[in-house]
Amino acid sequence: MAPRCSWMWRLPRCPLLGRNLSTTRRLGAGRSLSSKSPTPQICVVGSGPAGFYTAQHLLKHHSEAIVDIYEKLPVPFGLVRFGVAPDHPEVKNVINTFTQTARSERCNFLGNVTVGRDVTVEELQRAYHAIVLSYGAEDKKELGIPGEKLPGVYSARDFVGWYNGLPDNRYLSPDLSSETAVILGQGNVALDIARMLLSPLELLEKTDVAQPALEALSQSRVKKVWLVGRRGPLQVAFTIKELREMINLPGTRPIYDPSDFQGLGDILKDLPRPRKRLTELLVKSALEEPGEKEAVRRAQCTREWGLRFFRSPIAVLPSEDGKRASGVRLSVTRLEGSGESAVSVPTGETEDMPCGLIFSSIGYRSVPISPGVPFLPRQGIIPNSMGRVLGAPGLYCSGWVKRGPTGVITTTMTDSFDTAQSLLEDLKSGALNLSNSRPGASAIRELLLLRGVDPVSFSDWEKIDAVETAQGLKVGKPREKILNTEEMLQLVSR
Ligand code: FAD
Repeated sequence: MAPRCSWMWRLPRCPLLGRNLSTTRRLGAGRSLSSKSPTPQICVVGSGPAGFYTAQHLLKHHSEAIVDIYEKLPVPFGLVRFGVAPDHPEVKNVINTFTQTARSERCNFLGNVTVGRDVTVEELQRAYHAIVLSYGAEDKKELGIPGEKLPGVYSARDFVGWYNGLPDNRYLSPDLSSETAVILGQGNVALDIARMLLSPLELLEKTDVAQPALEALSQSRVKKVWLVGRRGPLQVAFTIKELREMINLPGTRPIYDPSDFQGLGDILKDLPRPRKRLTELLVKSALEEPGEKEAVRRAQCTREWGLRFFRSPIAVLPSEDGKRASGVRLSVTRLEGSGESAVSVPTGETEDMPCGLIFSSIGYRSVPISPGVPFLPRQGIIPNSMGRVLGAPGLYCSGWVKRGPTGVITTTMTDSFDTAQSLLEDLKSGALNLSNSRPGASAIRELLLLRGVDPVSFSDWEKIDAVETAQGLKVGKPREKILNTEEMLQLVSR
């Protein structure tokens, strides 16, 4: 049990405050003491888009509030760094806005601090007026079928983490010796994986893909990728931009079963707009004869990908020696109902798909952070109303942990602004108790020091960033990511 600290019950006067005066000044501890109404001390847990957009809105619309962002990794930005595909650099431009937020006088970044392990939510509650939980959905959903743990089966989360340089996944070393890969799932993450497996190396070389992944992909024997979905073409979860990119991926051709798309042209006009445009593209690509140039291009391709509909995995099949995956058994399904809410039901037929490489891309999952924080395990979210955690005054949530692991960065931005707005309203209405000053980060730093945890500041991250960018420059990449936490910490050690 860590020693108890004086700060928990009164304003901090600990030896640490003298250690870094500039930090103390930035934290505004003095302001808390002198002003009539204490400065709101707010902390955000998680530095992905949800954390940064929440902080941005709070800082913009409150002229005094101090916002501290706690992040378990030594580096910020969550899935923008560790999820978004390396060949989508334009998506990562949001980092520029996040950096401006982090550089605000009233914002502090404390990386390398895992809330729930290094410091508890309850300790944060004593140090801050409000806590916003924005810690995302880091776990993976399991398929729950026999053979799932066989070598050759990977979760999308781990594979994405591996090619994006997530320290936890640096030893994944997926076996890419199979010519056929099956991805279970038909969302944007599944398309990201298909693109990573099939992209020409010269495209990947210019990205920030992790070096070991680039090397492994250069030796990959994967030539064909199937994306398998339980439901039909009207229920795919990917979006039009990602589909178009896949259709046009150099060196690859799509494989379609035209019967999957028959009759869809007739119902297009009744579909809601985004679904209509997506289905139009699918139908066009699957049923229209390609022009001469495209036909020649497709004929020359050595790699291919296809969509397999109405199939649900029921088992991963072992190889003869039982040591690895050699295929997947699929239950043939049909739809009950229509549109987005249609459910798949088994027909009783099955089909085996031979393949040595299988990815389960059925989604991410949030986990509870503390027994004291309400959590709905079935939905995998924190129960909330407009970001206010139900039954827990002073606690808020935003991003994937608030609404579940779906939606792009702009969706996350909107819901984070909503949460920040709720918090600001509570500050204004007095629903959020500001009657006592709170010590904020200075007190938590003291506690962390006692526990041997040294937080990484935003300027520390900028040192890591500079090293990564310089290393990347040498090999024509935007950055060469550092893959292990110890090396990151060494770079910033004082
Ligand atoms: P996250 O981005 O996951 O951030 C959560 C942060 O909390 C992380 O930094 C994590 O380390 C930290 N954390 C977790 N636990 C703790 C703890 N206990 N203590 C402290 N910190 C903690 N959207 C797009 O618009 N375009 C894309 O191209 C795109 N590609 C994607 C690719 C993949 C593979 C995935 C999974 C998602 C993609 N998205 C994309 C969606 C986008 O990434 C999400 O909408 C967004 O990241 C959700 O933000 P978040 O802050 O809720 O979660």
